[in-house]
Amino acid sequence: MLGAMTLTAATPSPFPHLLSPLDLGFTRLKNRVLMGSMHTGLEDSRKHFPRMAEFYAERARGGVGLIVTGGFAPNIEGWAKPFAGTLATPRAAQRHQTVTRAVHAEGGKIALQILHTGRYGYHPLCVAPSRIQSPISPFTPRALSARGIERQIRAFVRCAQLARDAGYDGVEVMGSEGYLINQFLVGHTNQRQDEWGGAYANRMRLAVEIVRRIREAVGPDYILIYRISLIDLIPGGSSWEEVLALARAISTAGATLLNTGIGWHEARIPTIATSVPRGAFTWVTRKLRDDLRSEGNPIPVVTSNRINTPDVAEGILANGDADMVSMARPFLADPDFVRKAAAGRSQDINTCIACNQACLDHAFKNRLASCLVNPRACHETELVISPAIQTKRYAVVGAGPAGLAAATTLAQRGHDVHLFDAAERIGGQFNMAKTIPGKEEFHETLRYFARLIDTNGVRLQLGRRVSASDLVGQGFDAVVLATGVTPRNPHIPGQEHPGVLSYIDVLWHQRPVGRRVGILGAGGIGFDVAEYLSHGADQGHASPTLDTTAWLREWGVGDPQAHPGGLLLPQPAPPAREVTLMQRKPGKTGQSLGKTTGWIHRAALKTKNVRMVSGVHYERIGPAPSGQGVALMISQGADRQDAQVLEFDTLVLCTGQEPLRDLQAPLQQAGITVHLIGGAFEAGELDAKRAIDMGTRLAAAM
Ligand code: FAD
Ligand code: NAP
Ligand code: SF4
Repeated sequence: MLGAMTLTAATPSPFPHLLSPLDLGFTRLKNRVLMGSMHTGLEDSRKHFPRMAEFYAERARGGVGLIVTGGFAPNIEGWAKPFAGTLATPRAAQRHQTVTRAVHAEGGKIALQILHTGRYGYHPLCVAPSRIQSPISPFTPRALSARGIERQIRAFVRCAQLARDAGYDGVEVMGSEGYLINQFLVGHTNQRQDEWGGAYANRMRLAVEIVRRIREAVGPDYILIYRISLIDLIPGGSSWEEVLALARAISTAGATLLNTGIGWHEARIPTIATSVPRGAFTWVTRKLRDDLRSEGNPIPVVTSNRINTPDVAEGILANGDADMVSMARPFLADPDFVRKAAAGRSQDINTCIACNQACLDHAFKNRLASCLVNPRACHETELVISPAIQTKRYAVVGAGPAGLAAATTLAQRGHDVHLFDAAERIGGQFNMAKTIPGKEEFHETLRYFARLIDTNGVRLQLGRRVSASDLVGQGFDAVVLATGVTPRNPHIPGQEHPGVLSYIDVLWHQRPVGRRVGILGAGGIGFDVAEYLSHGADQGHASPTLDTTAWLREWGVGDPQAHPGGLLLPQPAPPAREVTLMQRKPGKTGQSLGKTTGWIHRAALKTKNVRMVSGVHYERIGPAPSGQGVALMISQGADRQDAQVLEFDTLVLCTGQEPLRDLQAPLQQAGITVHLIGGAFEAGELDAKRAIDMGTRLAAAM
């Protein structure tokens, strides 16, 4: 297998820019792929170090040119949260050797990220240039004294020296995303009057001193990456002249590579979510690279954000936007990304769909990160997919995410797998998800599963709704029921009115929808239907995610040279419809949406003037009094006195789902072992993360 993936001397490289080495003078990176830093949670406990070692070793084996670890604090004040991963003592450095040795054994290179969170620290010991609380932490930071600043610099230097002792090939100094160093750079968070505040030369002193003194301490033959914030996306962010001045000073101070960051964490513009166009910000890296090159400064510049396929990465490098490409989440989705690309097997890459559901959302909930499309990520030592000792014959009913994961994992293990779906295509509900503007990436997961079905010899039968009698007597050792869900019937009097549709009518059957729309149910699907209809996706309006210029205009991102921080007035396209989104619960709509993406969905719908109404009782549906459309009678308040009649052209029911498992009882009665997964097992709080995880874990154990 390995041999088949190795390029021979005569084979032209499928990605000549991406796969060409990068010479740093004292060392050479084997390609232009940097695995960007991600907080996985493995950093925060010493018991996870062997697991972390395997996590990075798998990515090194997969061919990454340079790995950057998740952030480690240089001291307690720099913690992201209480007891976050810290590298401040020789004993801690010794523990890190497990990681560096594992990566080096696979021929990889790894740098440790030094992360001081400043006022973003979620703990009472956090510090900052000035005593100004951030909008995303409940803790007000202590303003550092001049001696305190000196202590922070010494901590950075000590951390870099310890990283070198631990065997790391380099360090990355985290200077972007609004963390401590970034907080010193910007007047909005740095209101000091001493030599660390005021004029820009003072505000950038911390960044430059840290880099200069680390270089002095580690010597010339050590990779020193500085992550610079190119476009802050906050009011009062750095001007382009400031960014450029910092880049010059940092490279003079001894940085080997300039990695780039986009947007502070408190910015209200999405920077990595799935609705952000691929490579949406590489033009800013290019601006920096061109400006530095025009001054004769050849420091290699790394670009990042929403780069998730080898084609996109190659295009960026071929275009001269950067010298290297940083991808982070794509290596959760597929540790073999580079190896597959190099072997001309891009179609076999499990693509990161930028959903954040199992990675960033977990990190923000203090859970170990993983990946929706690859549940093995960060669980490599525990979720092992090994060849079956005894091969068996299995039926999997339902080719939605749960069934696809189960069938392909069983087949990978050598079992004889028969996969059935009533629909004419694989994917189940993912086929509806992928039609939502901003969810185009979901196509990639279905492309990947289709490849796995082919390459692992799953016997697929589409357009086949199976009954229990079709399966009994066919010699199956067990049946996996992945039949998903059925929409919940809300039993609202009058709901049989022709103006009432279900989300399946709208998204799957593409039934016509009028101009005034009421959506009942504000869960994930209600929000998605609101996005779909207010964008006019059914009327052929293109998704802004597929057009970077339109997307930047929609969110108000501009050239940082003309607009400091890159912020300008958003110019969203007008809504295609008048949409009202309703829920019975009181309080804010969208509470069930992802921790790191819910605000984006809410903000996007606001720009489309979607009206959100909570605490609604649906009393009755009937003909509209005006004779046009459908009327929804609602009441509000605990006593249900406040009654209103709302008129719409179409009502769409998005009122949740219930499990579909009518095959379970007859199969069990026939003596067949049945395993339930995904929506068929439990519809409440179902998502594709749980469906794929359940399918994979079951198949790994069967
Ligand atoms: P399903 O996807 O429902 O698949 C079940 C399959 O079984 C279907 O293909 C069906 O045809 C087949 N089947 C049923 N009975 C039979 C039978 N008797 N014989 C043969 N075949 C049968 N989740 C996320 O995690 N993130 C998102 O952003 C997201 N967005 C979504 C957006 C929309 C618009 C929708 C509708 C869903 C979204 N979801 C999202 C939810 C996600 O798609 C589901 O959680 C997931 O598809 C459930 O997987 P499943 O395999 O259990 O079931
Ligand atoms: P959901 O999130 O459970 O939302 C169902 C909605 O229907 C809620 O607003 C609920 O709120 C309402 N409802 C429930 N019972 C009702 C009843 N009897 N009558 C009227 N209203 C009722 O489910 P969903 O929107 O169908 O989504 C299904 C799953 O797909 C979700 O679990 C979600 O995780 C996943 N999904 C995720 C995303 C994502 O972006 N991550 C996107 C789409 C879907 P009230 O009871 O307050 O009215
Ligand atoms: Fe990418 Fe989603 Fe996986 Fe995170 S969970 S790595 S965003 S596919």
